[in-house]
Amino acid sequence: MMRKTTGEIKISPEILDQIKKSIKSLSDLGKKIKESSFRNTTEVLEIILASLIILEASDVHIEPEEEKTKIRARIDGMLHRVTFIENSLYSALASRIKLISGIKLNIKNRPQDGRFSIDVEEGQTIEIRSSTLPSEHGESIVMRVLNPKNLISIEELGLREDLLQIFNKQAKKPNGMIIITGPTGSGKTTTLYAFLKKAQSPEIKIITIEDPIEYHLSGISQTQTAPEQGYDFASGLKSLMRQDPDIILVGEIRDAETARITIQAALTGHFVLTTLHTNDTAGTIARLITLGASPSNIGPALNMVVAQRLVRKVCQKCGGLKAPSLEEKKKIKKGLAKIPANVKIPKITQIPEVKGCKYCNKSGYRGRVAISEALIMDAKMEKFILTNTSISAFKEEAVKQGMTTVYQDGLIKVLNGITTIEEIERVVGKK
Ligand SMILES: [Zn+2]
Repeated sequence: MMRKTTGEIKISPEILDQIKKSIKSLSDLGKKIKESSFRNTTEVLEIILASLIILEASDVHIEPEEEKTKIRARIDGMLHRVTFIENSLYSALASRIKLISGIKLNIKNRPQDGRFSIDVEEGQTIEIRSSTLPSEHGESIVMRVLNPKNLISIEELGLREDLLQIFNKQAKKPNGMIIITGPTGSGKTTTLYAFLKKAQSPEIKIITIEDPIEYHLSGISQTQTAPEQGYDFASGLKSLMRQDPDIILVGEIRDAETARITIQAALTGHFVLTTLHTNDTAGTIARLITLGASPSNIGPALNMVVAQRLVRKVCQKCGGLKAPSLEEKKKIKKGLAKIPANVKIPKITQIPEVKGCKYCNKSGYRGRVAISEALIMDAKMEKFILTNTSISAFKEEAVKQGMTTVYQDGLIKVLNGITTIEEIERVVGKK
């Protein structure tokens, strides 16, 4: 499927350089927008986009209110207020964004979406996905930044040593299926592509089916679902199987038919990478069964299930270390009581302390890392799922066979000085 034609804008190296020097935080951006708001709209938009890229924001929200328009940006999954602008500037900005995104200007009473790309430097293009939504005081606009910087290798995922070894081994299997699971915004795509990059080689054919294509990888045939043209995950999969692929990446298993075809593909000599919307690794097996997959096929087809969440890392500029309180010590000890012997656990002497500075927008955190668990399908597990169906039974068995849970991986990351107990609990809940 062809990509929609999109607008393109160029940000000159001079502007980028100037922004790099003058904008170190979202509050700097707020000030800069205020200063330049009397100038032309194109420049304001350029400043916003360049800043989003430099500050590694994932999206910006432009929300008209009765008297002014609010601008907010999301960094590391958290929304921060940037500034308010005059509604007259908002109108001009909205028209400009809709125009370059290929969104119909005259339609204001229903949601629309579009995209455009930014040429940042030689050879580096960043795609922006824009959407509009009618609201009380005008259309609210969200622009999402698809920064290719998010395409990282398995080595850059921040995995524990033992997990890294497992991931590297699994990425080189000739067939079978790897499923990455977790809620929206848990970094599944990044992990999926890390596997794909590791598995990629000139001798093998890789085809993807995605909704939508988020990142473009060279040397891979990527296709995008287009349900209005009859190209959905299930029908698309059937067509791409005729192209004799070695590796198939399926953006997401959403229905019974897709589950059936991907399992079949994994059983017939293909390596399949995909995602599923479940809470944990154990839930994945139960979900596949609910989707009609037979337990006797799941075992042989599945190589590994990874579940993950993203947690914020303590800011390198302002964060420090502290001695854990008695309560924190107890929590960590209890959480890590039954860890397999091959998992290295640091001593409980110091844990991170968050403060907050300009660099981290006063949040005390900067950047994110995944906390993960991996359920490996071995002969024992295969046999187990033939006679059990409950999520709790799967989980218990996986832990018995040596799986370190998402929560435990989080606690180990606390002991390694990467994140905090509060952050782990914010993301996975209190245990
Ligand atoms: Zn900081």
